[in-house]
Amino acid sequence: FDMFVLAFVERLFRTTYRKDDFVLGKKLGEGAFGVVYRVSLAKNPSSKKEGDLVLKKATEYGAVEIWMNERVRRACANCCADFLYGFLESSSKKDGEYWLVWKYEGEATLADLMLSREFPYNVGTSSHQPFIKPFMFPKMLLQHSELALSLPGQTVETMILGEVQNLPKGIERENRIIQTIMRQVLFALDGLHSTGIVHRDIKPQNIIFSEGSRTFKIIDLGAAADLRVGINYIPKEFLLDPRYAAPEQYIMSTQTPSAPSAPVATALSPVLWQLNLPDRFDIYSVGLIFLQMAFPTLRTDNSLVQFNRQLKRCDYNLNAWRKTVEPRASPDLRKGFVLLDLDGGIGWELLTSMVRYKARQRLSAKAALAHPYFDREGLLALSIMQ
Ligand code: ADP
Ligand code: MG
Repeated sequence: FDMFVLAFVERLFRTTYRKDDFVLGKKLGEGAFGVVYRVSLAKNPSSKKEGDLVLKKATEYGAVEIWMNERVRRACANCCADFLYGFLESSSKKDGEYWLVWKYEGEATLADLMLSREFPYNVGTSSHQPFIKPFMFPKMLLQHSELALSLPGQTVETMILGEVQNLPKGIERENRIIQTIMRQVLFALDGLHSTGIVHRDIKPQNIIFSEGSRTFKIIDLGAAADLRVGINYIPKEFLLDPRYAAPEQYIMSTQTPSAPSAPVATALSPVLWQLNLPDRFDIYSVGLIFLQMAFPTLRTDNSLVQFNRQLKRCDYNLNAWRKTVEPRASPDLRKGFVLLDLDGGIGWELLTSMVRYKARQRLSAKAALAHPYFDREGLLALSIMQ
């Protein structure tokens, strides 16, 4: 119980907010379970015109989302958008709404970035808009994008000094950026999974580029399940996004009993976790994002839906899918295979270890991070050998 007492005390001393504290700005999103706005604080509206906070007004699921954000805040703060506060706002509506407040992380989600033809070169460029073609200022762009993607614990200097002499070009450079994005997404996801949280709605729209840390973070814990304490254990009416969902309908076997009360569940759930490997649901979604980053033609909703249909027809066997499409592939589609085939096909190997029918056969986030695809020294050694 210490954890809960600590959390309570910490929350007591944190800045709290009320309804009247906020000045609503631009609407950022609207789903079935809430509306999201960019907001500023009423007491210093001039501090930043557009507002440096984000407010979600959520329906009944907001209570779970507050719980998840409080947990993430303590257990793996850098994985997700910086959560400030959540409360029940009951003055305006009969049943009340849950209000959740985050720091405004930045204007671009991975979905926004992938919509641009310049992806992945647009990642981390100021406002993600003005684009410098890589062949014009390769050195400058390299610095810019390595800055943007420098990893936690790595200083900008080591990133730049380490990279500048050995400038990769073209598809290899593109692969390098995609590799870094994948590493950051998997790192954040591993943090969530290690905390016992399965996200269940991993998609480019729920991955945001944080301009502060210049890394990608996960957002939207509205569908998440905390299996260690049995919160939101079985999704009831919740509809998973079919575009990124793994084929299994339930992340936990329907045979397992419904969530026991908190203390019991804490003791039980590691066993249930091992039995069901619910985290592999998220891994499938990350695999599809990897696929979309590698294949420009699969980035639109329609083409992803079509891909899902094709893959299902191939019994979820990516190698079989490849055999059907590669012979008549467009140059854009072929480009994806070229990228994934670099360094002895190590990218393709990682992809096929994530997008698999059986959850048990998919890599965990931690195992994926240890995959040779992310091992630069290994890659160098490979290219010397060839
Ligand atoms: P939902 O998908 O339930 O509407 P999200 O939490 O995904 O709610 O937020 C909707 C959109 O708002 C996101 O796709 C993103 O564009 C934006 N957004 C959410 N949180 C932040 C944040 N902390 N900083 C900047 N933008 C955010
Ligand atoms: Mg969302």
